[in-house]
Amino acid sequence: MNEFKGLNIVWLSETDLTNLNAGEGESNFIDVKKFKKDSIEYPYVSGQAMRFYLKEAMRRSLEDGEYMCIPDDQGETCGDIKKCIMCDLFGFMTTEKGKGAKTRVSPIKVSPAIGLLPFDENANVDFLTRRHRVSEGAKMEGDIVNVEIGTNIYKGGISIDMVRVGSNEKVDDDKRTVSIENVLDASEKKKRVKKTLEALKYLSDYSKQARLLTDFSPDVIAISLQNKYSHRLQKLFELNNGREINIQRLNEILDDVSSYSDKILFGMISGVVKNEAEVKKAVEAKGIIVKTPSEVINEAINLVK
Ligand SMILES: [Zn+2]
Repeated sequence: MNEFKGLNIVWLSETDLTNLNAGEGESNFIDVKKFKKDSIEYPYVSGQAMRFYLKEAMRRSLEDGEYMCIPDDQGETCGDIKKCIMCDLFGFMTTEKGKGAKTRVSPIKVSPAIGLLPFDENANVDFLTRRHRVSEGAKMEGDIVNVEIGTNIYKGGISIDMVRVGSNEKVDDDKRTVSIENVLDASEKKKRVKKTLEALKYLSDYSKQARLLTDFSPDVIAISLQNKYSHRLQKLFELNNGREINIQRLNEILDDVSSYSDKILFGMISGVVKNEAEVKKAVEAKGIIVKTPSEVINEAINLVK
């Protein structure tokens, strides 16, 4: 990892919206967050929610001696980046008495999960009865809950600024320069990056048990280990309404990103995108062997070691 400056992950995940947002609140209409592009609605899950899922997946995998603080009732975190994995990787804003606000920009960027297929063509409103007990001994009563359901293919992304993991920016006002001051040694930094990659796997285990979340584990994934910090890989996947990946775009972005990457990994399971044979051919023509998503995440973990 010594020379890697950026690690980017972009993935597609086919989901069933049945349990997406289900159980949230007591409202009788459980809807899906949507945004509009060219007057067509698409579903999405906010970046903040995706960060939360990633953080919680990491928290569940904490080992002895590893620490992640819990925000206080003001939402403030400990700010100790040496000790706290969360404050280091996800940044913070705290106020110290007499010193004002202290902020840390998150070295890990998490994008919203964007549905790539139009919502209307892939959704229904489902009616289900929610039963609740009115009082002891009384018969069960039910009310009708409308749940929006549908399938979609979501695109998710994570970008890690490897240099800023376990380090602080030091501004020298006299020399007018900014330098990096390491708080952790190289092996500790690597451990935290590895932990993030592992969380991507745990994201699926976790989500299967969470009422709030559908399975966001990657079905099609690309990971780049870059010697330059850039988010370019995040543009890799463009999907048309026929569930076909834009091959020209795929080629263009792979060419761009390979010019500053030591390694690009690609994983895919079958039955998610329609033109998977074409995708495989295009990726392998770049000298990248297509494996399964979990193989690819494991390979990335080994490369960071
Ligand atoms: Zn903390």
